[in-house]
Amino acid sequence: MKTMTCDFLIVGAGLSGCTLGVLLARAGADVLALELLDAKEKDKPCAGGIDRNLRSLLEETFGRGAWDDLHPAHIDGMRFRMDGHELRGGSRFCALPRKQLDDYALNLYTEAGGRLMDRVSVKAIDAAKGEAACECLRTGEPFTVQFRTVVGADGAASCARRLITGKKASAAPAIEASVPKLFDELLLEHRYGEVGYAWYIPQRESATVGAWFRGGSVALCREALGSLLRELSISVEPKAIRGAFIPSGDDVLLRAGENAYFVGDAAGLIHATLGGGIHYAIESAQLLASALTGGQDYGRAMRSIAEDVAMVARNAEKIQFLTNFRILKKGLPASSLTRRWGRP
Ligand SMILES: Cc1cc2nc3c(=O)[nH]c(=O)nc-3n(C[C@H](O)[C@H](O)[C@H](O)COP(=O)(O)OP(=O)(O)OC[C@H]3O[C@@H](n4cnc5c(N)ncnc54)[C@H](O)[C@@H]3O)c2cc1C
Repeated sequence: MKTMTCDFLIVGAGLSGCTLGVLLARAGADVLALELLDAKEKDKPCAGGIDRNLRSLLEETFGRGAWDDLHPAHIDGMRFRMDGHELRGGSRFCALPRKQLDDYALNLYTEAGGRLMDRVSVKAIDAAKGEAACECLRTGEPFTVQFRTVVGADGAASCARRLITGKKASAAPAIEASVPKLFDELLLEHRYGEVGYAWYIPQRESATVGAWFRGGSVALCREALGSLLRELSISVEPKAIRGAFIPSGDDVLLRAGENAYFVGDAAGLIHATLGGGIHYAIESAQLLASALTGGQDYGRAMRSIAEDVAMVARNAEKIQFLTNFRILKKGLPASSLTRRWGRP
């Protein structure tokens, strides 16, 4: 059986995996990333919503021109809806097609000399022994990878995390679809008793709609998205609706044993009421790269971030309740809003 060797094995060539890979490869490390899907074709379901303050992190991580290269669209305002009420406000958000961001990180990774194998299924990981058993999905051939350090960067349903720790990470389903752009504001529609929302997020040329409820089901997402689409008077073919998982934020795990680490969604790093994880994916990858190349402690570097994630997760119901209360108390009745909606 074929055996490959590397210093750093990254499972998952998504945003966090490629970000980590870029930084390690630029530091001269020997990196191999394994990706389940076709690396060029993969297109993670994601609304691509980011805070403007991501700019400095992106530029620090990828280089000075990164923000301009990616050119995210500014979102004009926010509309929070709940039970027929709507509250409007300013926005610090931008959005960009998620594939563009992932492709950007992937290209920088390969340009920096990082090795990539896609269409690979990881069957077993023995972190103590430094060995992973894999299968090439194109040829069906098994192979082994020997590594010094392994990093789980394979998203909310992380197989690396399950294979290394024996436990599944906690996550809930989300669904999304691309639609024509109707207006330039971001819209979140909340529900009684649920943490989460159905969304409309404008990007440059189009927009995404979707739904996610922490601890919720696909049926609830479908129902909430269906109701939002009716209000927006748009229809979406069922086959155009895609699904993926979002971590709960309840079970952050940064490290297992001496030589296994986790970043991004695989580490459970998410904002538990907003469902945002792009910032955490890049930040955790950047801090892990500094730790691995500079000898610092990843857990210590991540402490305040992990504490924030855990605090929001612990208080998610309370935070959502306060948001809903503000919408109901200060929002305008939906009847007048419905009339004000319209296509530009
Ligand atoms: C519908 C939806 C909308 C979202 N919208 C937003 C948003 O607007 N803003 C925001 O900040 N966050 C959003 N998020 C969350 C955000 O997408 C994640 O937090 C972020 O993508 C985490 O990046 P990651 O690299 O850790 O994981 P991912 O982006 O999930 O990347 C994981 C990679 O690992 C690969 N992989 C999976 N399994 C394996 C395996 N077994 N072996 C090898 N490779 C594997 C995947 O194919 C993928 O390439 C959204 C999530 C969803 C599901």
